[in-house]
Amino acid sequence: MSDVRVRFAPSPTGYLHIGSARTALYNWLYARKTGGKMILRIEDTDAERSTQESLDTILEGLKWLGLDWDIGPYYQSAHIGEHAEAAKKLLLSGSAYRCFCTKEELEKKREGGAEFGYDGTCRKLSEAQSREKADAGIPFVVRFKTPKDEGAVVFEDMVYGRIEKAHKDIEDFIVLRSDGSPLYLLSNVVDDIRDGITHVIRGQDGLGNTPRQVLIYTALGAKIPTFAHLPLTLDSQKAKISKRKHGEAVA
Ligand code: GLU
Repeated sequence: MSDVRVRFAPSPTGYLHIGSARTALYNWLYARKTGGKMILRIEDTDAERSTQESLDTILEGLKWLGLDWDIGPYYQSAHIGEHAEAAKKLLLSGSAYRCFCTKEELEKKREGGAEFGYDGTCRKLSEAQSREKADAGIPFVVRFKTPKDEGAVVFEDMVYGRIEKAHKDIEDFIVLRSDGSPLYLLSNVVDDIRDGITHVIRGQDGLGNTPRQVLIYTALGAKIPTFAHLPLTLDSQKAKISKRKHGEAVA
């Protein structure tokens, strides 16, 4: 027995891509090697793109490959309330703030050649001002308060090694939309915390999210898991394997 807990977390928005199958395989191998647990979590919060048909083909694909799981399937959509709660917790602890800027205002700033990311207009509001606006019914999103200093998010990826991202290169990103729905980035972290995931083994496309997610873990007072990002699956010409180029074999 070990305390290793890994997860395979497909989004049921298409067939099981060979790259995702490899991600599942590595999670499975790591769980089996360490005597840990493999959790299957279906990340179905993109309601428009998620389909039962995709889910069925993914589950069939895993079974066909002989990749079983110990716990689940869990469904991300069943936990949206918890994800929104986490955003509120960030707000209460001062790790996030309400942003009342409208789409139009943000667009204008961008057209006006605004510097990188959100300019922090609402970050400057006092708690009383922010409360007042919220109480007046002005819609707001919740933005994470990225540290404004010379520091950086640093973590050791099991595959890519030391990764460093300067705070100044991370904008005050949104964690909750104005309709109260959480952003995927946050949901994914909250689920990993709840599921006690010790090792996040996922595709390289997740790497762009990781620095912001590390900030969320820290702000929520949770232990940061070990990350292992798997490089893209390439063909012998070093081209990304895609259904368009490689046909049915990809699925
Ligand atoms: N649902 C994500 C995907 O299918 C998984 C991201 C993750 O493993 O953290 O790409």
